[in-house]
Amino acid sequence: MDFELTEEQEMVRKMVRQFVDKEINPYIQDWDDQGHFESSIMKRLADLDLMGVCIPEEYGGSGMDYNTLAIVCEELERGDTAFRTAVSVHTGLNSMTLLQWGNEEQKKKYLTPQARGEKVGAFGLTEPNAGSDVASLKTTAVKEGDHYILNGQKTWISLCDHADHFLVFAYTDKDKKHKGISAFIVERTMPGFSSRGFKGKLGIRAGNTGEIFFDNVKVPKENLLGEEGEGFKISMSALDNGRFTVAAGACGQILACMEESVKYCHERKTFGKEIGKHQLVQQMLAKMEAGYQMSRLLVFRAGSLKNQGKRNTRETSLAKWQACDFANEAANDAVQIHGAYGYSNEYPVERFLRNSKAPVIYEGTREIHTIMQAEYMLGYRSDKPLSNNLPVWPFEQSKEEV
Ligand SMILES: Cc1cc2nc3c(=O)[nH]c(=O)nc-3n(C[C@H](O)[C@H](O)[C@H](O)COP(=O)(O)OP(=O)(O)OC[C@H]3O[C@@H](n4cnc5c(N)ncnc54)[C@H](O)[C@@H]3O)c2cc1C
Repeated sequence: MDFELTEEQEMVRKMVRQFVDKEINPYIQDWDDQGHFESSIMKRLADLDLMGVCIPEEYGGSGMDYNTLAIVCEELERGDTAFRTAVSVHTGLNSMTLLQWGNEEQKKKYLTPQARGEKVGAFGLTEPNAGSDVASLKTTAVKEGDHYILNGQKTWISLCDHADHFLVFAYTDKDKKHKGISAFIVERTMPGFSSRGFKGKLGIRAGNTGEIFFDNVKVPKENLLGEEGEGFKISMSALDNGRFTVAAGACGQILACMEESVKYCHERKTFGKEIGKHQLVQQMLAKMEAGYQMSRLLVFRAGSLKNQGKRNTRETSLAKWQACDFANEAANDAVQIHGAYGYSNEYPVERFLRNSKAPVIYEGTREIHTIMQAEYMLGYRSDKPLSNNLPVWPFEQSKEEV
């Protein structure tokens, strides 16, 4: 057990912090007000080699450990949830799933340009009538010769208008229920694919979210990820990685709440003293600190299990549930500490509060994670070994390099 960041991790943390302070924080309020997703940030992240942090170098990534991805997510969300969400879907939900389940051709064709940041990946699981209840999805994939024909619709898809590649889940055999779901790599340029971003979200307004549609999209059979019928399993293992990044991001959200609140506590005076001197205000700060430290430990434990190649569904679910709840509470308290000023966009804490709600809903709602934890305790749920795992870190050098 070592609770210190390595030199490399500390270097990455500093780099992302500087990037956020220089290239996101000065502009984020405007982007949020306008509901504008600044896609150039993705290109800048690629310039910094941050689009494939924990993807092996042989597939275009930086080859760093899984906890370094957590550090990147924490620092990004200290700026805004929108860009952490983008990294969560691109790296956590899409690229890491290709790394875990893709064959060599798929890794070369799709993972490598994604890890280099030349292409952007997204994740299409949710449908208008299928969120927590994944098996209710209606999208179908019918095999015709060398192709699958996809028809259906996905909603609440992050990066819907910006991603180049989508990991899409569809029924190949409805009668088999969740064992009849398969996973496909779909390209935006495939005829019959379309997307429509939506406005009016409570938070993450500087992010791009919306619908994607499949109207007889012809997907080559080579784009089936894993075997037919493995889609449900693949989607759940993708969530083990996505949730990890969401939990790490939530730590960054708490950090931002602490920074703004401490600053304001020293600035604002009531009854002749700084509000930081009032014990009930101190209580809110102390809760933020406790939430931050506990969440971080849970995140790094999950990351350490990933580094060792061990299954971590239970640990990741706990980290995601707790960190997101703590972040939502911290943002609520940050607004409270700012009083009426916290209720306006003169201060960023109102954005933190709006942003902190979605992570309590996406990648498993608070209720789903609560149930999962109780089910593990009661012995109603246990994790069987998967046929495909993430590579253990440090990654082995590729055969070509050796
Ligand atoms: C900003 C944002 C970005 C997103 N990005 C993506 C994305 O990129 N890709 C993607 O596929 N999806 C994405 N989602 C969708 C997200 O994953 C779903 O919203 C989530 O899974 C919940 O599904 P739902 O909204 O349909 O809620 P429902 O499943 O309909 O749940 C409604 C309510 O009922 C509760 N509930 C449901 N079942 C149970 C149960 N068994 N026991 C107790 N309570 C229950 C839930 O906790 C919730 O409170 C995104 C969502 C948001 C808000």
